[in-house]
Amino acid sequence: MNDTKNTNQDLQWLLCPKCNKKTRLKLRPDTELKNFPLYCPKCKEMTLVDVKNFEILSQQTLTSPPNGKNGKKKKT
Ligand SMILES: [Zn+2]
Repeated sequence: MNDTKNTNQDLQWLLCPKCNKKTRLKLRPDTELKNFPLYCPKCKEMTLVDVKNFEILSQQTLTSPPNGKNGKKKKT
């Protein structure tokens, strides 16, 4: 018999490296992320991550969003 299960069953939530809560991302077993800005809705922080086999290989906190040309904050 052909069991045509959807491989989406294998998807797993990517967990935040800081609080271990679910982020908004689901990964496949063969998903690889490189320098991916992962946003955690709980921490409300971005973390730059490398991910392979559901495992976070490296992480780096992005403290402030990159401001392209003008990095100065305007006071109003
Ligand atoms: Zn978090």
